Amino acid sequence: MKKIAIITGGGSGIGLAMAEKFVTASIHTIIVGRDKQKLFEAAQSLGSYCEIMVCDLTDLSVIPELVDDIFRKHGRIDILVNNAGINLKKEFTEVSDAEFQQILLTNVTAAFSLSREVVKAMLTNNKPGCIINISSMASQYGLPKVIAYTASKAAIEGMTRAMAVELSPQGIRVNCIAPGFIATNMSAKALNNDPERKQKVMSRTPMGYLGNPADIGDAALFLTSDAAQYITGVVLPVDGGNSIGF
Ligand code: NDP
Repeated sequence: MKKIAIITGGGSGIGLAMAEKFVTASIHTIIVGRDKQKLFEAAQSLGSYCEIMVCDLTDLSVIPELVDDIFRKHGRIDILVNNAGINLKKEFTEVSDAEFQQILLTNVTAAFSLSREVVKAMLTNNKPGCIINISSMASQYGLPKVIAYTASKAAIEGMTRAMAVELSPQGIRVNCIAPGFIATNMSAKALNNDPERKQKVMSRTPMGYLGNPADIGDAALFLTSDAAQYITGVVLPVDGGNSIGF
């Protein structure tokens, strides 16, 4: 049976790389984001196994309808990847409450809300499925100037474990990938104007180079596959050794 996947933020960077791996494995993949043009261009490159849904996930009220539309159209949802995320690099004392809340809303609350709706749909499948959350090195060790992002990614890892214990008995595996420093627009913004930070990143990455979005795509495809059928509740660093680097 054809598997149906949702990847939030699937129009660019890591999300797009995961979508590439999924469609290559004949998984029908729905990519979600705010920028219609970006999604449209991604879909053109991904081919007929890809479908787009334009949605600002911070508008939580539209999430049940989004999931309902997908479920009614396809009759099942097998995979959810909570990948959409935003970052904010600022001194601790400069971060406003509104900025902090916006990061938490995008990176955590929207992922919770979407997961809740998708789980309701998944539970109607004969084989319920799996969820992958996307964390970051920001929750593996202390990184300066990303307070809200760090809080959001620590929350995602905690949620992964809480979801895994509650949902695995019902057949839904929940795992998390913690990407290291991966070459995308997001990391370029964080590193390119900050040579000291870039040097620090490279010096503690034993493999000595930034990761490729496709590295995360491969890990995600593995976690969705039957080869990972006994894996749930893990946070898998895909980081060239950055999280254990000296
Ligand atoms: P990108 O900025 O390329 O991707 C982020 C995606 O999230 C975009 O496609 C964007 O789509 C989508 N998005 C953001 N806000 C919303 C929203 N409100 N509603 C719907 N979609 C939204 O960055 P990356 O690919 O680098 O990041 C992907 C994930 O990987 C993030 O969770 C990030 O924290 C994580 N990560 C990245 C690392 C890296 O080194 N690059 C390292 C560790 C973690 P649109 O603009 O269309 O809304």
